[in-house]
Amino acid sequence: MKIADDIYQYIIEKATDVIYTISLDSKITFHNKAIEKIFESSIEEIETKRYDHLMIPQDKDLAKKIHTEMLQGKTPPIFEHGFKTPKGKLVYLECSVTPLFDESGKIKGSLGIARDITDKRIAQDELKESKQELEDQVHIKDKFLSIIAHDLRDPFNILIGYSDLILDQLEDLNREKLIQYVQAINISSNNAYNLLNNLLDWSKSEAKKITYHPEEINISKTLNNIISSLNYAASAKNISIRKEYEANITIMSDENMLKTVLRNLIGNAIKFSYKNSDINIEIVEEKLQFVININDTGIGIKKENLTKIFSPEFDVSRTGTGNERGTGLGLKICKEFITKWGGRIWVESEYGNGSKFSFSIPK
Ligand code: ADP
Repeated sequence: MKIADDIYQYIIEKATDVIYTISLDSKITFHNKAIEKIFESSIEEIETKRYDHLMIPQDKDLAKKIHTEMLQGKTPPIFEHGFKTPKGKLVYLECSVTPLFDESGKIKGSLGIARDITDKRIAQDELKESKQELEDQVHIKDKFLSIIAHDLRDPFNILIGYSDLILDQLEDLNREKLIQYVQAINISSNNAYNLLNNLLDWSKSEAKKITYHPEEINISKTLNNIISSLNYAASAKNISIRKEYEANITIMSDENMLKTVLRNLIGNAIKFSYKNSDINIEIVEEKLQFVININDTGIGIKKENLTKIFSPEFDVSRTGTGNERGTGLGLKICKEFITKWGGRIWVESEYGNGSKFSFSIPK
């Protein structure tokens, strides 16, 4: 049965899919009106912007590859392309193309049919995103549980052990022993507190629930408070913390975030320092920022780990010089917080010869 040309034309014009032809040099030589409907734009608007300019950048290489392969005689599979319409809307088309031949049998271009699959793609992308979110949440939960199971147990064992000792021997304990036990309890409860804080901060920041609230802070005072809370941990190793900063330096920052950063960096300096050593803490005022330096003369960091220790993928945590265990979360949280306030964190270190952690707070 022969179908009249005007019926063909009618079918092409009424089709809801885009029907188009492309020349050998990649120019669109024909298309029906469906393109106007799908792109919600007139042909003039579409043509002045050109199709290849409307295609989203990540799909351009695929389009080029398919066109080249087709010219070599291969029938390409059905493929998907994304376009940004002249009105700025993202549209996805599912395309199938076949080569067009001239009378002598040589390829002269291609004929394509493109179907609007935007709704399907958006639904797929949303599904992918929520699957990823779900996997991230499961990962957070697993890490949370493993830290609680392993690392929070240690400080509590010490707390329970030493408080039991005090209760059992209360009558016979001399002052020296009592001080020793209470110091162990103090250090352990500070460790547990820091661990718990890191755990909560980290899970909140993973769930994107941390917001930055800047206010005027006396950073010298904040530093003094953090140093006092870590005093016993330092004195247990006979480490002296030198405060190389003036008394009343005010800055703009989020105090809770700043405390978390300082607690982690100074805590680490104590954890990784040898007995009878010094830690120096400086605040340097520059034109556009304050830089806080925390210097220790402890175990140092291997060169290959210097940048890795801040990255979420680095999952190695070393024990401290007093066998203190960690979670490997501290520096990641520091980096995340410091980045939030527009600052930077960096480290200089020589393995076996101490480390200098620095971070900046813009003025
Ligand atoms: P944690 O201390 O709980 O392991 P952090 O994220 O705070 O986690 O630190 C990650 C790692 O970076 C540590 O395990 C340690 O190997 C290294 N590190 C951090 N601070 C220091 C420091 N002051 N000296 C030497 N190594 C450090």
